[in-house]
Amino acid sequence: MEFIAATNNPGKMAEMRRILERMGHTVRSQREAGVTLEPEENGTTFAENARIKARAICEAAGTATIADDSGLCVDALDGRPGVYSARYCGVHGDDEANNQLLLKELENVPEPRTAHYGAAIALCRPGHEPLIVYGACEGEILRAYRGEGGFGYDPLFMSSDLGVTFAEADPESKNRVSHRAVAIRALLTRLEEEGE
Ligand code: IMP
Repeated sequence: MEFIAATNNPGKMAEMRRILERMGHTVRSQREAGVTLEPEENGTTFAENARIKARAICEAAGTATIADDSGLCVDALDGRPGVYSARYCGVHGDDEANNQLLLKELENVPEPRTAHYGAAIALCRPGHEPLIVYGACEGEILRAYRGEGGFGYDPLFMSSDLGVTFAEADPESKNRVSHRAVAIRALLTRLEEEGE
């Protein structure tokens, strides 16, 4: 299938493209499709926000669109920052300030500081009901950065699957086990079941 990926986040875009292209699908970014819309993510769950983004871009472009809404859920913080992961520190997309605030909030929390990344992926297609799927991956929050790759909270997220942080992992390894990969595989399974 050919999809537009409804995101302006370069880290997410690169991962969605790699995962879907490896499985034989074609992905265009919102920008490549000429859609400059930034829908307001005012939902309270990953699923609601994914649906808002996918629907808005699908309506604007008139073609199949997937959107991911994702974030980091820390057990000692009762699941925060969750849907607010991108703007945890108050400024949207300031990864460094988000990571520093996370370290500060967890300063007095003993190990293991368990957490998971969660992702909802919505697929909207003209004339179809939206499809929503979920993915998650488990890990622990470290006290200092490790690794240079990935994006967002990856230097602090020690993956239980890989035994290294997502910033230390090579992109192929992260894309095998990540919340986004799990959700995308679930989406492709649903499409196969539909006969798409
Ligand atoms: P969204 O664009 O509202 O879905 O924001 C997602 C935010 O969650 C990102 O800006 C990151 O802070 C965080 N996040 C989601 N997935 C990842 C990941 O794979 N690595 C690191 N941070 C992530």
